[in-house]
Amino acid sequence: MAERDFVSTTPPAVGIADVLRRRLPSGRVVTDPDIVAGLSRDQAVWAPVGRAVAVVRAKSTDEVRTVVRACLEQGVPLVARGAGTGLSGGANAVEGGVILALDGMDRVLEVDELERLAVVQPGVVNDDLRAHVAALGLWYPPGPASSPWSTMGGNSRRTPAECAASSTASLATMSSVWRS
Ligand SMILES: Cc1cc2nc3c(=O)[nH]c(=O)nc-3n(C[C@H](O)[C@H](O)[C@H](O)COP(=O)(O)OP(=O)(O)OC[C@H]3O[C@@H](n4cnc5c(N)ncnc54)[C@H](O)[C@@H]3O)c2cc1C
Repeated sequence: MAERDFVSTTPPAVGIADVLRRRLPSGRVVTDPDIVAGLSRDQAVWAPVGRAVAVVRAKSTDEVRTVVRACLEQGVPLVARGAGTGLSGGANAVEGGVILALDGMDRVLEVDELERLAVVQPGVVNDDLRAHVAALGLWYPPGPASSPWSTMGGNSRRTPAECAASSTASLATMSSVWRS
């Protein structure tokens, strides 16, 4: 099926939250306005923020797939969110859209010590990965000053300006990512 076939003419306001609730396990879709507002922006106080209709707290790759597909079908904007420590508004909601919160996908799935390869979910916190591999005698180099909170997903999307702010000892995350 061609990608454009997923886009319907249904107005986005017609129940994307209900569509997502029907397709996802209970509790994943949050529409409480205060919680949604709290998860709708990063640390860039100057950046514009839209009103999201829902936050989805995904727990698996299948759930991420479900959310992406539903938003595509309904023509609803979707913004991924890690820890929300970004300084450029990248995780800020788009009006009428959905926030896909990935901090609950926080497992280190595999570390191949020989190949120096870690397979992680996107919500793994930078310092947690560093501690995990340190226990094996290895070092995970990329380390923004937000490493106690920021996630692998967010780290992999850092802007060049943000990377320039990193300490000289750290490397840009993308130079350490094989596949994302
Ligand atoms: C105190 C402090 C210190 C900081 N120090 C540094 C520093 O030294 N160097 C530096 O570069 N930055 C720094 N930052 C900025 C910020 O921490 C980094 O950009 C960090 O990588 C963001 O990670 P996050 O998990 O908070 O991502 P978020 O802010 O949640 O998201 C960042 C971007 O990534 C996207 N995103 C998040 N997860 C995914 C995913 N799984 N898939 C696709 N896209 C995704 C979001 O849509 C957004 O565009 C700092 C911020 C603070 C508050």
